[in-house]
Amino acid sequence: MRTKTQHKNDNSAEGDVKVGDTEMKMEEGEEGVVPPLVIKKPPVKPKRKYKKRKVDDEEHEENKHISKSIQQRFGKNKNTQELAVIKHTKNQTVKIVNPDAHDNMIERAEELKINKMYQVELRSDALPTAWKCALCHQRTCRDSLGDLFGPYYVQAEEKHWPEFLTKKPAKMARSSSSLIDIWMHGSCALWAPDVHMAANQLENLEEKLNIFWGQSCFVCHQSGASIPVDGKYLHFPCAMKHPGVVLDQSTFTCKTIPAESSR
Ligand SMILES: [Zn+2]
Ligand SMILES: [Zn+2]
Repeated sequence: MRTKTQHKNDNSAEGDVKVGDTEMKMEEGEEGVVPPLVIKKPPVKPKRKYKKRKVDDEEHEENKHISKSIQQRFGKNKNTQELAVIKHTKNQTVKIVNPDAHDNMIERAEELKINKMYQVELRSDALPTAWKCALCHQRTCRDSLGDLFGPYYVQAEEKHWPEFLTKKPAKMARSSSSLIDIWMHGSCALWAPDVHMAANQLENLEEKLNIFWGQSCFVCHQSGASIPVDGKYLHFPCAMKHPGVVLDQSTFTCKTIPAESSR
């Protein structure tokens, strides 16, 4: 009895460490719980190995498949991978290599063109001005005037300096000019005589603005009046509100309403 229990203990203790030792002790013909341990342990190792190899194979196959499809798509066109190339084939027909890249390139070029059109070129050498209309002195979206458009860059002459937009530089020489950025309401620019839109530029703007800044509005008595009427001048919003004048949309001119009919 004593040896049996001792042996049992020995088995359990050593069996954990080495399989070979456990097998040796089985051959001694002892009865007990040892046999199941011997059967169970050995098959575990090959099973694990087999499973692992299977996963490895699957992964390998998958990787091979991916690499093959990448090679098929890009391998041959390695040199022109980034480029969309238009090739003339033998039949004198045009073939586009890398159509996706071609489409992307066209899209990017179009975006760039549009961005350039709307991109505002900010000039650091211009004097900063108040965000007001350079003609009527009103701010953006006042009454029904809508947004201010700009910035436009003009040389403001010292003679009729637009003080309402920015202070005249202290050391400004006589008859000199200084670059300022200006904004205008769409309607104020539209009704300003001889200021025309060409492409995205306003022609004559600089020259005419320096004249308008020397003209006072007969309604609000402020500078920047552009619309002539009977030898006097008006701002667009002042003309809109004044009951004595009428704006002719077909000719972009302003007329006074005879005193009798205005009553
Ligand atoms: Zn205005
Ligand atoms: Zn006015």
